[in-house]
Amino acid sequence: MKVLVLGAGQLARMMALAGIPLNLNIKAYDVASKQVVDPLNLAVTYGDLASGINEADVITAEFEHISHDVLALCQASGKLKPSSTAIKTGGDRRLEKILLESHNVANAKHHIVATRQDFDQALTKLSLPIIFKSALEGYDGKGQWRMKDASQADGVWQEMAEFLAQAKPENPQAIVAEQMVQFDREVSMVGVRKADGSTLAYPLTENHHSNGVLSVSLALASDNALQAQAADIFDKVAGGLDYVGVLAIEFFQVGEQLLVNEIAPRVHNSGHWTQQGADVCQFENHLRSVCDLPLGSTALIRPSAMINVLGTDTVPTDILSLPSVSMHWYGKSKRPGRKMGHINVSGASNEQLYQRLIELARLLPAEDFPDVLPYISAKQQ
Ligand code: ATP
Ligand code: MG
Repeated sequence: MKVLVLGAGQLARMMALAGIPLNLNIKAYDVASKQVVDPLNLAVTYGDLASGINEADVITAEFEHISHDVLALCQASGKLKPSSTAIKTGGDRRLEKILLESHNVANAKHHIVATRQDFDQALTKLSLPIIFKSALEGYDGKGQWRMKDASQADGVWQEMAEFLAQAKPENPQAIVAEQMVQFDREVSMVGVRKADGSTLAYPLTENHHSNGVLSVSLALASDNALQAQAADIFDKVAGGLDYVGVLAIEFFQVGEQLLVNEIAPRVHNSGHWTQQGADVCQFENHLRSVCDLPLGSTALIRPSAMINVLGTDTVPTDILSLPSVSMHWYGKSKRPGRKMGHINVSGASNEQLYQRLIELARLLPAEDFPDVLPYISAKQQ
């Protein structure tokens, strides 16, 4: 089968790698060059979008910020999975909130802001601190403002008004003002749904962010009741979108309650550990779902963790001498803060995983991984 992925980044690359043993032929549409490329060798081109759509048996996406005209063409071909509606919902925080509210899924208190009047209403409705997030095009903490003190109001509004004024009229932008949640931790669920409505979910993953960007994900063995709560929300959200493929949901955990932060209609950074920690990884299960093949097990086969490599193209090769450590580079050129690769590590038990994580973190240079060792050391206590 031939699969065209919209987007030619690391997620398309890892789908391509996972698809090879299944004899799936994966091409990627690079939204910047508007060319269909080999996701493993971006230099090779196979023509434009129209020929890519024509050639493909199935079309899917590796990210949600895809122009609506591209989505419309793919949807019209009848090959796009998940649907353009599902992708657009994941790319617009306003639509996400409507979806969550319509299924009574708990999320942070919020207010949509397009004008100064809306902004003032948000300040009345929500209590400080407040986080403001652009409705469209936000990722890795970009397009966000935080307000801790009422004296910041005019300055924050000024910046947001300038940002809103830049939006194209055909793509009306807005800001979602959200109550800052005093969470105990952040977790996510990566799950997969087939066209027949069946679903499977990977174990909840604990996520540690640094400056708004994912730094470490931990998938531990646990019989957590939270898993059932998250799986129930996953079924509501994925069912509500009539979703096909892998979908990720990010949560804030407050006590024993999960509040949805956001959804991602695609394979997700917090699911990269599944490459070594599950029988069938998120990339393969996504392909199995969109190609209508039977799904593989999402059970944890061994406690695992992932560390993001951000803004550097070297890590000490000694890390490969540690047991159950594997390196995944994305073949990208270096830019500050850019996601360049990730490191997976596994253990036979949670204790062994922590031991290996500590050893691994000690080998990683503090200037490139400033918060990894402090986070893991604090967790282990
Ligand atoms: P990413 O692409 O990494 O998922 P993003 O740009 O889509 O990021 P969010 O996930 O909404 O943005 O926010 C990034 C991080 O900021 C969250 O993981 C969390 O740490 C913090 N954050 C966002 N919203 C809130 C909130 N309402 N309360 C507390 N913290 C928040
Ligand atoms: Mg997020």
